[in-house]
Amino acid sequence: MANILVYELYGKIYINLTNRCTNECVFCLRQDKDDVCGQTLWLDSEDFTAQDVIEQLNNFKITSEIIFCGYGEPLLKADILKEVAAYIKKHYPDVKIRVNTNGHANFVYKRNIVPELKGLIDEFSVSLNGATSEEYDELSQPKFEGAFDEVKKFIKACADENIDVTATVVEGYKGRHINLEKCEKIAADLGAKFRAREWIENGYS
Ligand code: SF4
Repeated sequence: MANILVYELYGKIYINLTNRCTNECVFCLRQDKDDVCGQTLWLDSEDFTAQDVIEQLNNFKITSEIIFCGYGEPLLKADILKEVAAYIKKHYPDVKIRVNTNGHANFVYKRNIVPELKGLIDEFSVSLNGATSEEYDELSQPKFEGAFDEVKKFIKACADENIDVTATVVEGYKGRHINLEKCEKIAADLGAKFRAREWIENGYS
């Protein structure tokens, strides 16, 4: 079966670049499901090019927003992401491009990659996932230490580049509640907007 690199959901186009991630969030849809609304997002192979993504993209009617978000952390494929985003910006300049990310990219690449994404990405949605490092570690189960601080630094790096950035949390997962006021203040102090995504059965809003 072919890799599903591009899919459509509720009238928006999503790009699924990888199944790898530096977190193992307890609420990750990958833990429970093989599909999102019938789309199988497990990739047969991680070995593909930006051109493969663009070819799939061109099979869709381009909508007003395209989002890099799938079963994994899209910025682990930063080079492909940049190439695809540049293609979209060139051919569909009015389309808004968002990246949903865990905010670990600068730790992974050992440099600040946000300036490289300026002009390509219009908005970042970064998973803050907690008001404290302990809460973050419990919910996100990162594969390295100090991840919460890295996420906050990434959010600030986006704000510093004047790129629209929203810090998000998943609230209410299996009865777990987090301090939303504190999270909102952290986001504001970093220069970001804030959004709590409510956990609903089999997913989140
Ligand atoms: S950061 Fe996203 S893809 Fe990674 S484990 Fe968490 S919810 Fe899943």
